Amino acid sequence: MNVQAPAADPAVAGLASVTPAIERIGVIGAGQMGSGIAHVCALAGMPVVLLDVTAEAVEKALGVIGRNLDRQVNRTLISEIDKLEALARITPSTDYAGFADCDLVIEAATEKEAVKRAIFATLVPHLKPSAMVASNTSSISITRLGASTDRAEKFIGMHFMNPVPVMKLVEVIRGIATDEPTFQAIQALARKLGKTTAVSEDFPAFIVNRILVPMINEAVYALYEGVGSVTALDTALKLGANHPMGPLELADFIGLDTCLSIMQVLYEGLADSKYRPCPLLVKYVEAGWLGRKSGRGFYDYSQNPPRPTR
Ligand code: NAD
Repeated sequence: MNVQAPAADPAVAGLASVTPAIERIGVIGAGQMGSGIAHVCALAGMPVVLLDVTAEAVEKALGVIGRNLDRQVNRTLISEIDKLEALARITPSTDYAGFADCDLVIEAATEKEAVKRAIFATLVPHLKPSAMVASNTSSISITRLGASTDRAEKFIGMHFMNPVPVMKLVEVIRGIATDEPTFQAIQALARKLGKTTAVSEDFPAFIVNRILVPMINEAVYALYEGVGSVTALDTALKLGANHPMGPLELADFIGLDTCLSIMQVLYEGLADSKYRPCPLLVKYVEAGWLGRKSGRGFYDYSQNPPRPTR
């Protein structure tokens, strides 16, 4: 008797193994991180749509990206042609319709859950069904953000480090519903960008910021309690612990609003008083002293070199 194996259903066969290709990328938020993400994706050869609330914000980001690419040209890391081609791949936008062809949209807007949810609500009607969505959030639950979209299985955390063109790590965070092809596609994208990944479970602030930001918060407490001055604290950690930047210098670099938001997520998400944000950090943010990006934080950046403020 001639027994034939049942024909494989092409719709089922290979489904689990197919890694979706990522060729066109959208980036939402053209601040420090969004501009860095657009920079590395464009340099890796992918067309990028970069969106912010205002055309001015996106234009400013293009200026930053141009200067950062120049720096790479000067260090002979890339050629002038690489730079021009990368810049030409970035399309500035304030219109979500520009994301219609994107295979992946990476959200890198302000670290506030309400802001991100509103962005996803506006975004999803414009996406093609196969499009994946990633958030660069530093701390907010990927499962919760994913559930606010129409595609939790195609939603993932892709947490780049600052400055994106320099830092080698990308943390990858699966929400409870994230599917394997999305996870594999994001791992492949990170490799294409020359990054190494560390996989974190979906806990508040993931791995890097679970450890880094409480250290920064502790440094602000030490400043608040008068244990040491800004200079003493930063010098102590640089020379005493071999950190490349002091914790207060690093806080200014990250942005004090972002540091505070991460502490609030840790404090609320883990319900442990050891994560209480330092009142001095809260006060600086309330004053609009957000660090480098606003010209003043623990250092005053109108002076060269920046002057410690305490
Ligand atoms: P940023 O303040 O430099 O930039 C945020 C940008 O988002 C701004 O340009 C703002 O105009 C834009 N934005 C705000 N609301 C928007 C909206 N509704 N639609 C479109 N754009 C909007 O902040 P950042 O440091 O670039 O941080 C962005 C994200 O990246 C945050 O989730 C943050 O936690 C995360 N992150 C930051 C760092 C860091 O070191 N700063 C590192 C890793 C991840």
